[in-house]
Amino acid sequence: TEGVCSSCSLGCNVIYQHEGQLIYKVTPNRLKDDGVLCKMGKFEFDYINKSNRITRPSVKIKSVNTDISFEDVKIEFVLKLKSIKYLHGKDSIGFLVSQSLTNEELALVRELSTQLETNMIGSVNVTGSDAQSTVKYEELNNAELILAVGNVYESFAPMGVKIKNLKRPLISVSTNGTRLDHFSNASYQAQNLETLFTDVLGYLTGKNKNVLGNNQAEQIANAYKKANKPIIVIDELTVSPTIQKLLKEMAVTTRKINKPHRGLLTLKKEANAQGAIDLGFIKSGNEILSKAKGGSIKALVVIGEEEVDISEIDVEYLVAMSMFPNDLTEKANLVLPLVSLAESSGTLTRTDGTVQKTNMAIKPKTGKSNYDMFNEFINYLVPQA
Ligand code: SF4
Repeated sequence: TEGVCSSCSLGCNVIYQHEGQLIYKVTPNRLKDDGVLCKMGKFEFDYINKSNRITRPSVKIKSVNTDISFEDVKIEFVLKLKSIKYLHGKDSIGFLVSQSLTNEELALVRELSTQLETNMIGSVNVTGSDAQSTVKYEELNNAELILAVGNVYESFAPMGVKIKNLKRPLISVSTNGTRLDHFSNASYQAQNLETLFTDVLGYLTGKNKNVLGNNQAEQIANAYKKANKPIIVIDELTVSPTIQKLLKEMAVTTRKINKPHRGLLTLKKEANAQGAIDLGFIKSGNEILSKAKGGSIKALVVIGEEEVDISEIDVEYLVAMSMFPNDLTEKANLVLPLVSLAESSGTLTRTDGTVQKTNMAIKPKTGKSNYDMFNEFINYLVPQA
């Protein structure tokens, strides 16, 4: 079955090999891509087959988790959240949502949040940087300069291979060196990339005279200035939001953005990070959690986010939707099972904004897709005419 890899925002197309309900191999879809997958995309799918997955909803009654049906959980979930909205008003419910859900699932969660009158919707991985991609992958083919920043090859191997094979003029900048250095026309390492790119920007704008004498910055600035069509490729895993802002400013200052073959390509962690941002999930995890800690958020709904520290948070109502038991499901008042992308159909927006379709390879092991579960909540919350 044709699908899209769920492990990062690069959106590599895959073929799920499966027999019955067992996924046994993931291979690249060579009809759609270059035929390269990283180790994670190729080998880390076994979690789908694990036997310790959560398969039924449960509710905490007197500190004991008790299984309930999907029918009953719908009533419990909707009525409780409605009553919290009624009692505490707008923005009293927070949604922390994984950027790995499909666009269709996210749109339903968005609708839920609208009906419950809350703007407190976001994801743990929202960084606060607005350096979104402005070019498509194909535009790299004609770039006059690719400026790769961070560990692009190590973090996103298929993109590293693509850049290597394109043989376009390449400058690689990282903290401690990267594999892409070997294929670049020039490579630079700097312990403090923020200082380096502040100086590059200083050279480009001519405003900061203090930067004179920084050879690395001057060389990068000159090469960038000289290229009519430069594309900056940013590894978000190793490049901080502050540096991303500087890189965007370089492109904006020199007007090398929002035109074909020039701009930014930002490589993000989660599979549908761009789709989630486009659908309005733009609050950071820190903001939502601090509001929950401060008491203005009374109910917190955490959907597919595993790395949430709720040790200091004591909300009135905590809902955890997850594939596996964890600290969050342990503490939650209500637990709902999620399914993987291999058990879902829908679309994902890869990091360059291209929307790709992914197909259900195996039936949901919980008996219900995420989409159907969210849809039932909406239909119960807003009865159809
Ligand atoms: S680079 Fe990302 S999308 Fe591609 S195979 Fe690896 S994890 Fe999956």
